[in-house]
Amino acid sequence: MNAYVLPPPKVTSLPVVGQDGRFPVRRVICVGRNYADHAREMGNDPDKEPPFFFYKPTDAIFVAHADGTEMPYPPMTSNLHYEIELVVAIGREGTSIDTESAQSHIYGYAVGLDMTRRDLQLKAREMGRPWDWGKGFDKSAPCGPIYTAETVGSLASSEIGLHVNGQTRQKASLTDLIWSVPEIIAHVSASISLLPGDLIFTGTPAGVGPVEPGDQMTGYVEGLGEISVKVI
Ligand code: MN
Repeated sequence: MNAYVLPPPKVTSLPVVGQDGRFPVRRVICVGRNYADHAREMGNDPDKEPPFFFYKPTDAIFVAHADGTEMPYPPMTSNLHYEIELVVAIGREGTSIDTESAQSHIYGYAVGLDMTRRDLQLKAREMGRPWDWGKGFDKSAPCGPIYTAETVGSLASSEIGLHVNGQTRQKASLTDLIWSVPEIIAHVSASISLLPGDLIFTGTPAGVGPVEPGDQMTGYVEGLGEISVKVI
């Protein structure tokens, strides 16, 4: 007898630098507006309102390598935007985690892109509807390999950035985060239990903009290497 009436979905996973085993992805939690200059460019007041969150489907994640990966231009948009982000990988379960113990819940970090159908997102925002269709499409979350927390040490003042076709489009310091990584973990875990395998996309700095088929995006966080994604 089969346990399931259909083949169960395969586990989405990311490689871990220096390990044979892979990181199994459970959920993809994203922070909205976490850099003041990006909040302003999107027409919002960055004054420290509480952080807010949205999800992408787990299988939106795909592995982006330093030496090149391809991403198909998605349907239903004519304004596909890049958002370079620091990604935090959770390794230990926790509820109502305080900022002092947040670090012990982090398995590692990666560089990711929160690709966005900006036209659909802004239309939804205007109409007071959910962002999901603007944010959670297939292959909307290219993500590099995970670097374990022990191997990278502190990223608190690392540079984050993105080039498109060799030109700088986004460049900031992680010191510019409105909500730090421990604060984000505290906020998320006050609302839901964080579980091993969860990924948190921590928000993007200013400079977001459109890409077209043929464009080559190269994103980095100092200490976590580069990812390279070509839109096709
Ligand atoms: Mn984002």
